Amino acid sequence: MTKRADPDTSHDHGRCIDDALDAAADICARRGARLTPLRRRVLELVWAGHRSVKAYDLLARLGAGAMPPTIYRALDFLVAQGLVHRLESLNAYVGCPRPRADHDSQFLICEGCGIVDEIDAPELVREVRQRAGAAGFTPIRQTLEVHGLCGQCSAPGNGP
Ligand SMILES: [Zn+2]
Ligand SMILES: [Zn+2]
Ligand SMILES: [Zn+2]
Repeated sequence: MTKRADPDTSHDHGRCIDDALDAAADICARRGARLTPLRRRVLELVWAGHRSVKAYDLLARLGAGAMPPTIYRALDFLVAQGLVHRLESLNAYVGCPRPRADHDSQFLICEGCGIVDEIDAPELVREVRQRAGAAGFTPIRQTLEVHGLCGQCSAPGNGP
């Protein structure tokens, strides 16, 4: 695997945000789903970096007047559209870097810096599906959340 420096400083993150917002506009237009200014703003805030964010962080970032139910409804919409994923183990949210393709998700969650990397491992998904099928089980969705240290945080002298 390629070693990744902190994506918040090592690349032009503005492009990540632009790409995410463009893809969202595109996807919602095609589906006839309404990407309201608030939903778009929440998506932008989730994409503030590559770390997961909690609903109350978003509330704070949205500023005065933002109400929790509004945030949760916006997040529910973004999750339903596949633009944002919910990390069950953290009760937090992260933007999806490939929302155009319907997929099951695997996440590498760094406990040092908080960066979340979404990987694409279709062979894992297939394997689980096969095992489930063999057990007479019909999977609806599967999410794998792996906790550990990213390349940056596990490098010698670079610990958290
Ligand atoms: Zn980025
Ligand atoms: Zn995704
Ligand atoms: Zn890290």
